[in-house]
Amino acid sequence: MNGTDAGQPGRPLPPGCGDQPPERRLFGIAACAGVAIGPVFRTTESPPQVTRHKIHAADIQAEGARLDAAVLQSRKQLMKLRGRLVVLPEESQGEIAPLLDAYIQMLGPSRLLRGARKRIEDRLVSAETAVMEEANAISATLTAASDDGTAARQADEVREIGRRLVRNLTRAPFRSFAGAVQGAVLIAEGLRPSDAALIDPARIAGVATEEGGTDGHTAILLRALGIPAVLGVPGLLADLRAGTTAVVDGVVGTVILNPSGTSLSGARRAVASFARDRQRLGRLRRLACVTLDGEAVSLQANLELPVELPMIAQSGANGIGLLRSEFLFMNRDTVPTEDEQARTYRNVIETMAGDTVTIRVLDWGGEKEIEALVNAGLVPELVDSNPALGLRGIRLLLRQPELFETQLAAILRAGQAGPVRVLLPMVTNVAEVRTAKAIYHRVADRLRERGVTLPAPLPPLGIMVETPGAALCADMLAAEAEFFAIGTNDLCMYALAVDRGEMEVAELYDSLHPGVLRLIQMTISGAASHRIPVSVCGEMAANPDMTPLLLGLGLRSFSTNASAVPRVKQAVRGTTIDDCQRLTARILKQSDAEQIRESLATFGHSSAH
Ligand code: PEP
Ligand code: MG
Repeated sequence: MNGTDAGQPGRPLPPGCGDQPPERRLFGIAACAGVAIGPVFRTTESPPQVTRHKIHAADIQAEGARLDAAVLQSRKQLMKLRGRLVVLPEESQGEIAPLLDAYIQMLGPSRLLRGARKRIEDRLVSAETAVMEEANAISATLTAASDDGTAARQADEVREIGRRLVRNLTRAPFRSFAGAVQGAVLIAEGLRPSDAALIDPARIAGVATEEGGTDGHTAILLRALGIPAVLGVPGLLADLRAGTTAVVDGVVGTVILNPSGTSLSGARRAVASFARDRQRLGRLRRLACVTLDGEAVSLQANLELPVELPMIAQSGANGIGLLRSEFLFMNRDTVPTEDEQARTYRNVIETMAGDTVTIRVLDWGGEKEIEALVNAGLVPELVDSNPALGLRGIRLLLRQPELFETQLAAILRAGQAGPVRVLLPMVTNVAEVRTAKAIYHRVADRLRERGVTLPAPLPPLGIMVETPGAALCADMLAAEAEFFAIGTNDLCMYALAVDRGEMEVAELYDSLHPGVLRLIQMTISGAASHRIPVSVCGEMAANPDMTPLLLGLGLRSFSTNASAVPRVKQAVRGTTIDDCQRLTARILKQSDAEQIRESLATFGHSSAH
């Protein structure tokens, strides 16, 4: 809900808080436009669920290794938080740093870890059970021995580090949104994509996290849900009380805690202006997506969760250019069956009533952790040291053909309800496309043998161009694939060696880098060499400032989150292809992304008048 105001006029504090604490204004990355005002809800309050308790004697060593990996991961997380404190005022640093140091120390040779290891060996319990039991035992001893504040604080610290270890061991999402009041602002250290997928946009007004970057999957999901969000906010959790009023401004990227009366009034005005803006853009829904000189542009929507379907219908999108099928596999213990998948795809296809739905097969890997795949033994339990470069997307599907074939069969069956296309993620070479194609045809043959009628030719099989290797060989891949969808999020990440979800290097993650533009250019000309359609479905397509550049590069098909559809349409309708081409020719000679950004801003400004 962009522009939600759940705050109470003139009452920025919950009752009984005495003097109003000073306003704290924090800065982060604007991840989803909109302004939200509401009471803080912290997601780390409830302990993670432990479902695996006992182990066999033969597993003691493996369990110890799991614990070691979780300790390492927890240390890394805390060191990262510690490293970021420098941006905060000195007195805040002085308060938070000792706490983080205490946590880090407990991840060294500590009573907690010694005790947990001993429990694994002596009592044959899983690492998560061992950690939780040991943390509870230590904190109980501490509080029993003394009732002073120090003991209580230390007991809290042990429990907190225990929770962190268990979260990392179970890789479970926080799943604790149930206690959030209507209109709450959700605040967390970090949210995984699977956590974000569980958020109810009718209940949660805004989100702010210490972790995260602009084009990570969590940010994408929050945009899909239309929840104002600011990610990567250092010091957000320091001294934060549940119920404190927070203002999340996802346009400028600020979070205000305990806002003053003036800040609160400003935020309320922003909420109202956002609502007006949305109404104005809503009127574009029925207008054609065509440039001033009559060039038609296809504008489709990305879908990451089925709850988006009504928003997509309202957006005026003419189809789904990217259905990220990961949602079907997330937040569940087992892998979905062919029937279950077919039902879900069919529902989307039927809702789109004749508009094409492009279904991307499972893109596991990177930050997209999926428990069901771990439980089914389809992916390694211990995360690769460099997951973005590991077993991802099409690589996993070719390694686990049954998983791939089940999904293809489901898509083909659902395709009887309307036009579909099948999209392969993370392709890097021609052999992957050929192998996938052979599997696709084999699955179709089997379905025909089962009596399923399928169209001839089969629905188009295309590829994401989202690795530099694929973009550089686009002409070769175009000989095998039936369409291209440019994934600028990963393309930018791999081309520039910058993690898309990492705030530390966020300023280097820039899709206007001339290297990224050249890769897009090569992809478009590769597609043209074999006359196959090409679209762009990464976040770059959703930024109306970039629309003239993408049009000038030759793209005529965009797929964006539903809320961006009207803005991009407005940009298309406000320009001519001639102007875009001239602008793009100028931009392609520029060597500096900042200069390119300026050229785009000037162009946008001049075409707005
Ligand atoms: C991309 O990489 O640009 C893309 C659209 O895929 P995803 O964001 O799901 O990785
Ligand atoms: Mg991608």
